[in-house]
Amino acid sequence: MNRVAVLGSTGSIGTQALSVIAANPRRLKAALLTCRNRVDMLRGQIDRYRPQGVVVERREDAAELRREYPGLHVFFGSEGMLEAIGTMEFDVMLNALVGISGLAPTLAGIRRGGIRIALANKETLVTAGRLVTQGAAAAGVPVIPVDSEHSAIFQCLSGNRDNPIRRIILTASGGPFRGFSRARLAGVTASDALLHPQWRMGRKITIDSATMVNKGFEIIEAKWLYDLAPGRIDVAVHPQSIIHSLVEFEDGALLAQLSAPDMRIPISYAFSYPERWAADTRGLDLVGLQSLHFEAPSGEGKRSLDLAYRLLRESEEKGKDSGAVVFNGANEALVERFLGGRIPFLAIVDTLDELLARHESRALESAEDIAALDLEARAAVAQRFPE
Ligand code: MG
Repeated sequence: MNRVAVLGSTGSIGTQALSVIAANPRRLKAALLTCRNRVDMLRGQIDRYRPQGVVVERREDAAELRREYPGLHVFFGSEGMLEAIGTMEFDVMLNALVGISGLAPTLAGIRRGGIRIALANKETLVTAGRLVTQGAAAAGVPVIPVDSEHSAIFQCLSGNRDNPIRRIILTASGGPFRGFSRARLAGVTASDALLHPQWRMGRKITIDSATMVNKGFEIIEAKWLYDLAPGRIDVAVHPQSIIHSLVEFEDGALLAQLSAPDMRIPISYAFSYPERWAADTRGLDLVGLQSLHFEAPSGEGKRSLDLAYRLLRESEEKGKDSGAVVFNGANEALVERFLGGRIPFLAIVDTLDELLARHESRALESAEDIAALDLEARAAVAQRFPE
């Protein structure tokens, strides 16, 4: 039996993870659930999954839950989160938190040791790839990616770990604005951007998908997960989201992982690896699909990829990773403003471009260093676009 800590249990990945747990009652058990504000939804999850512990954001919510559920370990706030990770009993930690708030829990999971981390929080590797991969390797904590693209690569590499990779190809849906000109993008709204053609996801990642900053993040994550030079990471736009990514080996063989777009598949694999478990998922109707379409990244979206490649080269050539922290922190602040209708869509990547051009990159020292730089990046956005 694997006891699972689901960090971010009321979000999109969290709820799908709980459905995977429910589908495997003899193999998986929810041990720890965490949420920020959707406490009513959490109550439903406590009733159904009977975890040993929960973490919520606010002290008042924690006090109420303690009254309602005697015997349940209830923690609150970011300190409570770290305490729960350090003290509760579980075997797998799914980190499905959104934003840089997911970094400290990943590091706490590595410090704790003796667990597997199923990683859905992108910011962990974008902002602290070096720290996290080195720390996890030293502690013997496996980090299994949950992101569909990185899970696809992980699956293609299964049985091929020691074979040299010529390149990987991350697929990108291109989001809702694929092919839009800059003039047309100038007028798009948050509700336009939230209509993703293939995936139903949280709000932040859906906007990141529309700007293709998400794919930029995935390029950076791939470098850390698979130890690849920037020249070995390619992106192909594949609007159908059927091929989730590919690996080309030195002999020219290309392996791909295909499935209907369903996050329960990579979530389940992160729990079951190296096994595969039966699931109530739809197979692919290849004849119905008829063809798979690919194109090169172009237009505004490509700018986000170029930013990521520039950051990777700085990291690769000079060991300076700080730009990725600025990229991530400023993006988070910009997306928040775009979702609130306070800045136009194009301001997101325009501002990232500008801030990164000005940023003097340097080596990162520690998690505290990363947190301070993250705040600086947000402050730079706030200065440009005051509340
Ligand atoms: Mg992805």
